[in-house]
Amino acid sequence: MKKKGKVYLIGAGPGHAGLITVRGKELLETCDAVVYDHLVPAEHLAYAGKALKIYAGKKGGLKSASQETINRRLCFLAKQGKKVVRLKGGDPFIFGRGGEEIAYLKRHKIPFEAVPGVTAALGAAAYAGIPLTHRGLASQVTFVTAHEDPAKGSALIDWNVLAKSGGTLVFYMGATRLDQLTSTLIRKGLSSKTPAAVVECATLPSQKTVRGTLGDIAKKAGQAGIGTPALTVVGKVVNLRNRVDWFSRLPLSGKAVLVTRARAQAGRLSRELLNLGARVIDSPMIKILPPATWAKLDAAIDGLRTFDWAVFTSANGVEKFMNRLCALKKDTRVFGDAKICAIGPATADKLKEYSLHADAVPPDYVSESLVSFLAGKEDLRGKKLLLVRSNLGRDYLPKAFRKLGARVHEVMAYRTQRDQSAGRRIAELFRKREIDFVTFTSSSTVKNFTAVLGKKTLSNIKNKTKWISIGPVTSATMRACGLKVHRQAGEYTIPGLVQAICRS
Ligand code: SAH
Repeated sequence: MKKKGKVYLIGAGPGHAGLITVRGKELLETCDAVVYDHLVPAEHLAYAGKALKIYAGKKGGLKSASQETINRRLCFLAKQGKKVVRLKGGDPFIFGRGGEEIAYLKRHKIPFEAVPGVTAALGAAAYAGIPLTHRGLASQVTFVTAHEDPAKGSALIDWNVLAKSGGTLVFYMGATRLDQLTSTLIRKGLSSKTPAAVVECATLPSQKTVRGTLGDIAKKAGQAGIGTPALTVVGKVVNLRNRVDWFSRLPLSGKAVLVTRARAQAGRLSRELLNLGARVIDSPMIKILPPATWAKLDAAIDGLRTFDWAVFTSANGVEKFMNRLCALKKDTRVFGDAKICAIGPATADKLKEYSLHADAVPPDYVSESLVSFLAGKEDLRGKKLLLVRSNLGRDYLPKAFRKLGARVHEVMAYRTQRDQSAGRRIAELFRKREIDFVTFTSSSTVKNFTAVLGKKTLSNIKNKTKWISIGPVTSATMRACGLKVHRQAGEYTIPGLVQAICRS
């Protein structure tokens, strides 16, 4: 029997990647195709892995010539037996034409489900610190789409009722027609002193909030250069912002941080920075690739039980090693009695994901301390050590271990390659806007950064930002490459690096 397809209409929320429902994420992770709107977070598309991704390109979500095309596409995909996610900004049923898409599916006998999302008004309320209802101030709230010219009036919006409602009004529209909107409300009887706020890019690190009154908000929003997407809140609750706002007070609120790690590893750093309010610009200098051949690693895996120690020098190395183990249809039993050493806590945490507990984690996360720490634990003479690393590992470790009498066997679990396009991207970023911090998490990211940028660009941007290092080895490389070190992490870890930025 032919598999029957189904369409899931899902609300992606207002922009912050974390503001999707558990159900929405679950469906994205298991779907065959996603048809998505303008402004849905890239992270949500990443949840969908290898599923077919189709951009529906609806800006603003109201006027769209291509609605018919979208409807037909949803039907077409579902009729092929696919599990289709229709991912829409905010909530699908708040000014999102969700009802129309479902009516079309129904006519074509396509099964469907709907999953709610955080609508922009609720996102703005939480992130701009404006509770939409509040005892004694507002007991009702109205969501209005005001894309039509308010001066001309609309059959569906009763401006007289809105002006007299006494509750909070939230207008879904850009700031362009704000002057007409506010003058209409004033003409219909609302006081020009009524508090009002415009929130642009609610819930995102680029969120901007402008406060004023009905009388002056249009002018103020214009002066502040408010663009899209933005919405306007009108009512006494706007004054609560003084007390309720938290987002603009986060330690890194409004700061732009460049993360130079490979994308696969940038996750944790970027997430922590984002949670502190920073605008994170992920710009990896390198791509992570498999080694040219697996032969050496496979042989090491085969003989792993003959080693005394397996030493992992990065979380990436652990992940690639374990992936290879899995590809070979083997598991952690290959370790036998071999003890495991992790260079630092992130590497140890990665091992834990595979239920492996490191027997040794040196207190300072640098190669030098790793050698003395292991040597302090036991006599390394004649001991067989497997070093799992990348093509960029320093010579220091094998040399130092050999000096202590160990038999060292190095294997490459992954290779890194420079991403030349990163240089152009970064130069352009510096031209367009300010980057408050550039972070480096390893010597190799520093070397790659300086190489892809080139001398000229580097000297142009040198004094235009703050340079932050994860630890002494990275700092030394930075200095050798002609960069200043404004701050070095106290603890040589990602949380340490994040703290260093907060203190700068
Ligand atoms: N279905 C969506 C609304 C689509 S209409 C929802 O439930 O949120 C598009 C309008 O929503 C925009 O013109 C803007 O007014 C508002 N909007 C969407 N995302 C926003 C955001 N992050 N910040 C402020 N307003 C937003």
